[in-house]
Amino acid sequence: MTYFKEIKKGDGPKRLFIGGVHGHEGFTTIKALSQISDRDVKNGILHIYNFDESPYISTLDRHYYTSNIGIKIVKIIRDLKPEMYIELHCYNSNSFEKLTDLNRKERTGIPPLIHLEAGVLIGSISPYIRTSLFDEWDVCITLEIPCKASKEASDVYLKVIRAVASSGNKHELLDMLRVDYPEQVETAARYAIELYWDSYPPL
Ligand SMILES: [Zn+2]
Repeated sequence: MTYFKEIKKGDGPKRLFIGGVHGHEGFTTIKALSQISDRDVKNGILHIYNFDESPYISTLDRHYYTSNIGIKIVKIIRDLKPEMYIELHCYNSNSFEKLTDLNRKERTGIPPLIHLEAGVLIGSISPYIRTSLFDEWDVCITLEIPCKASKEASDVYLKVIRAVASSGNKHELLDMLRVDYPEQVETAARYAIELYWDSYPPL
């Protein structure tokens, strides 16, 4: 079942959290997204969507954005114009090495995902939408959890989602993430600079 929730708390950034981007991922991502409530949101607006099953097409494949679900997500982003965007994904544990492989950029053109802890991975979003639908200083995060997640992984996943909900801008978010993940934030910054030669910020 498609899930939607809107939380409004006066002035502040527009945030968009999306799960169920492709395949069966919505069955995993709904568990985290359904736990986000009004008290998690600092200010501004949060829209949460979680989608049903759809054919699996990678978001690194440009055809994703001409599929029904891809078109729907692009429209949601264009309509809301969020300054903070999280795409929630899940992965088969066998793919951990592939997703975090330091040679991923040579293979796929995009940097590896960064391991936070307990199998939770963080990275930027598909280059097909990062530069065309978002501004340089927007927060754009891909968050991955094993589809069969442990309690520890679920807690980390939710902690990062809540950090985005409760920070007012990119600086606040990075400060929050640096407390637990200083090296990972530094790596994300380096990857962003390598990927976008201009001064794109981390995430
Ligand atoms: Zn995915």
